[in-house]
Amino acid sequence: MVPQDFGLNCPEYTMQRIDDYGDLPETLSRGVVFIIGNRGNEWLAALSCPCGCDSKLLLNIMDDVHPYWRWTVDKDQLITLSPSVNRLTGCKSHFFLVKGRVDWCGRPLSFQQ
Ligand SMILES: [Zn+2]
Repeated sequence: MVPQDFGLNCPEYTMQRIDDYGDLPETLSRGVVFIIGNRGNEWLAALSCPCGCDSKLLLNIMDDVHPYWRWTVDKDQLITLSPSVNRLTGCKSHFFLVKGRVDWCGRPLSFQQ
């Protein structure tokens, strides 16, 4: 079990592109949302769970497949995802990612004991 810090010391998330021929890194570090797909045809967002549990979160970003997430980046590559990310399994983290910052919706379940 990896010690979790539940978002403490979590860096701001910035966007990095990977085109269709690129590979997602084996391990993802917090602070990066990988956007996968060629420009204009992005299909997947991948990030490491901000709670520190090391889970790899994969989000569909194709708007013709539900559910999907919208994403925007600002000039500093800080990323916003909507709607929120709500994990139903594992750490059950529920958070918004707004301009790179993690905004928790309550604390992860495992932190409430
Ligand atoms: Zn987590």
